Parts: sequence; C-alpha cells; structure tokens
Amino acid sequence: MSISIFSQGRDLNPWVKALKAERPELDVRIYPDDQPREDVTFALAWNHPLGAFTEYPNLKCISSLGAGVDHILKDPAIPEPVQITRIKDENLTSDMANFTMALVLNHLRDLHQYKAAEHERNWEPLRYRRNEEVTVGVMGIGTLGTEVARRLSSIGFRVTGWANSPKQLGSIKVYAGAAELDAFLATANVLICLLPLTPETANILNKETFQKLPQNAYVINVARGEHLVDEDLLEMIEAGHLAGASLDVFREEPLPKNHPFWAHPRIHVTPHIASVTNPESAVGQILENYDRLRNGEPLLNLVSRIKGY
Ligand code: NDP
Repeated sequence: MSISIFSQGRDLNPWVKALKAERPELDVRIYPDDQPREDVTFALAWNHPLGAFTEYPNLKCISSLGAGVDHILKDPAIPEPVQITRIKDENLTSDMANFTMALVLNHLRDLHQYKAAEHERNWEPLRYRRNEEVTVGVMGIGTLGTEVARRLSSIGFRVTGWANSPKQLGSIKVYAGAAELDAFLATANVLICLLPLTPETANILNKETFQKLPQNAYVINVARGEHLVDEDLLEMIEAGHLAGASLDVFREEPLPKNHPFWAHPRIHVTPHIASVTNPESAVGQILENYDRLRNGEPLLNLVSRIKGY
C-alpha cells in the first residue's frame, strides 16, 4: 500500500518530509512519478489534474490537503467507491478565527483609512462603533465558522450564524436553511462567508443577498472566490449600500493584475492566506486514516459526496 500526493503548482516536499518524519518506512510518492499505480491505495490531493484518479485501480481514499474539498469534488471522474476525507485541525481553525477577527477590527477601527490619511499627513479622527454595537453574521457554522463566531462573541460582538441545519450555540442565534436566510442577512452589519463551495452556495454573495444586508454592511469572504459575484460587489459598494469588503479568495488565483479589486479603495485583498494547512500538524490525522483504511475501520473527517462538503 502506497500514498501518492497530487497537486499542481505546490511544493509537496514539506508533506513528504512530515509524513516520513512520523513514519520513515512509509512508501510516499508524488504524482506523476508514482508507478506502479496499482500500489497506490491512499491519495493526498490539492488541485489535482482532473481525471488523474482513474489510473489507480486500487485507490480507496482521497484526503484533501486542506479543509475544503471542492477541488476534489469538481472532478466528475472520481470512482464511486473512493472515500473522500478532509483536514480538521486546531491550528487551521485558530488561524482562521484570528484572521477574521483582525479583518473585522481593521474595518471597524478604520485602519485602512488611517493608513491612507497617514500618507497625506492628514490628522482626521473618525467616529467609531464599539464591538457591542455591531452584529457579525457568520455564513457557515461548521468547524471554522463555529470558532470564528465564538471568538467574535467573546470580544463583545453580537454574533449570528447561518447553517443548513438548526444548532444551539449559546447566545449566538443560528438561522437554518434557505427559509431563514433573509432573516439572518438582516442582522449582519458585517457578513463573513465561511461556507463550503457547493452548487447551492456558488454565487451566494450576489446583489440580491447584499441588498438584504443592513445599509453600510461590510463583506468578508474567506471561503472560495466562486461564492462571490465580483460585479455585484463592485456595484453595491459604488451604490453606497456596502461599506466595502475584505477578500482572501478569488475566482482566479493569483488575482489577475488588471482586476478592479486590486486598486479599489474600499476593497482589501489578501492572497488566500487566511488559514493555511501546516503539514506537521496535519499528518497525524492523515496517518490515522491511512491505518484505519488498512484495518477496515471507519475513516475520520469523511465528506458527504451528496452534500458536497
Ligand atoms: P464545514 O463543512 O465544517 O462547515 C460548513 C458549514 O456550512 C456548515 O455549518 C454547514 O451547515 C454550512 N452549509 C453548507 N452548505 C450550506 C447551505 N447550502 N446553506 C446553509 N449552510 C450551509 O467547513 P469548514 O468550516 O471546515 O470550512 C468552510 C470552508 O472554508 C471550506 O470549505 C473552505 O472552502 C474554506 N477555507 C478557506 C481557507 C482560507 O485560507 N481562505 C482555509 C480553510 C478553509 P451544517 O452545519 O448544517 O451542515
């Protein structure tokens, strides 16, 4: 039984090193130099070449190298019996909570505007809102969204959430399903998208959604670029309905040099760094699943192909 790692444009050596450090005898290969392919039972993947998995007759499991699995599920050629798993990691979760808190506070305390004012040596104090006066709505109350919501609540924000299924989360009111989306949106002075990318959630950050947010709302997208309709965001900022946005993910990455987001004074761009999987911290659960697969035991962090996450 061998593990093969699939990715385009990513340095995979840290993954090989981390796996070997935990288990020196492991047979770890990197696609496409992973013959004979009959040996490979377990794959690690991030943006693999579509269709590549059809060449592995004994493949049993594909593990994402991150929290998201849209990059795997978009491949229509994944054989049906292959199980798909993903990473759930405390560091990944904590990094996302820290990053989103930084973005919310950055917006609320106008740090970007002060940076621009500093360039012009312009001393101009701005009025600000306190955390307690602001409701942050978190779309997607899963592994990451739950921690983001809790942390924001712990520093005084009013927090609401939206998920597929109803949940109890202390003082955080969680709205559920399409029927409660409008009620959720009406609460959110700051909207954070932490949904998985599925056919139901693609393009969900659109004009109609934005119009249901309170006047002057701020949008943070740290999920996937395909959640956002770029033109609708620009239009709603231009119209004065939205205060601006922080975007970490884009339809095309790297964001093309001529994209209007780069130079927009009310849009803050970061290069998909909200929360990055650390190989050393993630290999434990990957090897746990590798062992479980060999022993015929149920795998951890399984993804539902039907739900798409
Ligand atoms: P989870 O699968 O743990 O959580 C997903 C949440 O979204 C769940 O609460 C789920 O509801 C909800 N949801 C899914 N579909 C719908 C829908 N149609 N309507 C309403 N709610 C829905 O995912 P994670 O928290 O681990 O990760 C979320 C995403 O964050 C990843 O898929 C990835 O794309 C992105 N990400 C981005 C990173 C970055 O650096 N920018 C880093 C890591 C992840 P329910 O609980 O009811 O099932």
